Amino acid sequence: MSELLRVGIDIGGTKTDAVAISRDGRVVQQLRLPTGFGPGAVLETAVSAVTQLADRAGTSIGAFGSIGIGIPGAVDNGTGRVSHAVNLGLNDLDLGAELSARLGRAVRVDNDVNAAALGAFHLLEKSASHSMAYLNLGTGLAAGIVLGGTLWRGSRGTAGEIGHIPVDPNGPQCPCGQRGCLEMVASGSAIARQWPTDDPKPARALFSAAASGVSSAIEVKGRFVENVAAAVRILVLTVDVDSVVIGGGLSSLGPVLLDDVRAVLESWERVSAFLASTGLSERIAIVPVEFPAAAVGAALVGVA
Ligand SMILES: [Zn+2]
Repeated sequence: MSELLRVGIDIGGTKTDAVAISRDGRVVQQLRLPTGFGPGAVLETAVSAVTQLADRAGTSIGAFGSIGIGIPGAVDNGTGRVSHAVNLGLNDLDLGAELSARLGRAVRVDNDVNAAALGAFHLLEKSASHSMAYLNLGTGLAAGIVLGGTLWRGSRGTAGEIGHIPVDPNGPQCPCGQRGCLEMVASGSAIARQWPTDDPKPARALFSAAASGVSSAIEVKGRFVENVAAAVRILVLTVDVDSVVIGGGLSSLGPVLLDDVRAVLESWERVSAFLASTGLSERIAIVPVEFPAAAVGAALVGVA
């Protein structure tokens, strides 16, 4: 049955997650590798991940049903070309073609947020008519929108780029050229800027400092959570999706993040009958820490 396995590879800034999933969507093989830096090393990491999955599954690369990649940066999902993946040292790489040549078969490539959105949708196990926005909280902030099991990319691939909606006219300058973008106040980089620490997990450090009563931490955390809630509100009020699922690196904060965001949404619902009528606070969920959403989604992207 190995020919039915679909492979998904999530190439991240430091680690690469790889899965093989069965036709019914179960993860049957899973592995993690450190990601190399620069085009050659990134390609080598991906090839190694696929090869190791084939070994573990006792099959050959050619026998996999499909292979899909999720990667940060600007991705042309038609050609598999990746550009501006700064954290990976990729300026411009024809990833899909290069990998296809090395692996001897077709490889589909998509943006990591879109891949994770598909993975999160898969995890929900909802009916085909379900609609979902995946809110990725990592170094930056972006959303992937899945309508009826299919990604909604928009006319030019801009759908879900809510991180660049300005929310504070006096806020910090954003690299995008605007000021006070949502991403500048509700992301890992926003926390790092406002709560400098040597801790390898700054968001976790912030949350625990706030929990132990450090007033500056309470303030920074409060602002962060409120702006994440604002992102949820934007998604519900623009696309009216059934669910908003929080994922990305910061979702490893776990249920405490979900509870805090829900509390902000509920406080807004108490003062706004309009917001209350939308059921805003009931629509949110979070990706479980151990679920490799982007890798699973990449496997689904790989289906032609
Ligand atoms: Zn911006």
